[in-house]
Amino acid sequence: MTRVIGLTGGIGSGKSTVSQCLAELGAVIIDADKVGHEAFNPGTQAWHEVVNTFGRQVIAPGGEIDRKKLGEIVFNNPESLARLNKIMHPRMYEMMGKMIEEYRRQGVDVVVMEAAVLLEANWTPLVDEVWVTVTSEEAVLERLNRQRGLAREQTLSRIRSQLSSDERARHADVVINNDGDLDEMRARVKELWDGLQR
Ligand code: ATP
Repeated sequence: MTRVIGLTGGIGSGKSTVSQCLAELGAVIIDADKVGHEAFNPGTQAWHEVVNTFGRQVIAPGGEIDRKKLGEIVFNNPESLARLNKIMHPRMYEMMGKMIEEYRRQGVDVVVMEAAVLLEANWTPLVDEVWVTVTSEEAVLERLNRQRGLAREQTLSRIRSQLSSDERARHADVVINNDGDLDEMRARVKELWDGLQR
C-alpha cells in the first residue's frame, strides 16, 4: 500500500534537503512548486483565471504566466495574494491528487509531497501523515545569508509572514529538527524511513 507523506516547514527550514534525502532512500517526490508552475502554462484553467483576475500584464512573452510579475503584484498585498491562492490552490490540489492516484495505481511504496503551504492550503486530505521540518530562526538566517545571499531582514520578513514553527508542529505527525549538521539530518531521516518500512 502506498504511503503518502506531506512534507512542510518554514522558509529555509530544510524541506528540499530532506526530500532529496528521502528520494535517495527510494521515495517518489511531488514538488508542489513545480506543480504550481505547470498550472501557469497557456491554455490551462488556472492560466485563464489568473489573466482574467490580474490582467494581460501578467502574460510573459512566451505566453505563460510571468511569475515574477505576478509575485510583484501579490507581494505585500494580502488581498491579491488571497485571490491568487483561491485560484491556484484548488487546481494544485486536483493535479497533485491525480498524481498520487497514479502512483498508488503503480504501487509506489512512499510518495513525498513537498509543499510549503500544505497546512495553509488545506491539502492534508491528500496525505497520510504530515512531517514538518523545524529549524531555529538563527540557523535559518545564517544559512540563507550564507547560501542564498539573503539579508537577515529579508528572511525575517518572510518568516513573519508564514505560520510559526509551533503552529506547524501542532499539526505534525513527525517533527524533523534540522538545527544540527547535514549528517544529523540524514541520520534522522534514515531513522524515520526505516520506521516506515516496518
Ligand atoms: P525554501 O522554503 O526556501 O524552499 P527549504 O525549506 O526547502 O527552503 P532547503 O533549501 O532545504 O530549505 O535548505 C535551506 C538552505 O539550508 C539550503 O541552502 C540547504 O543546503 C541548507 N541546509 C539545510 N539543512 C542544513 C543543515 N542541516 N546544515 C547546513 N545547511 C543546511
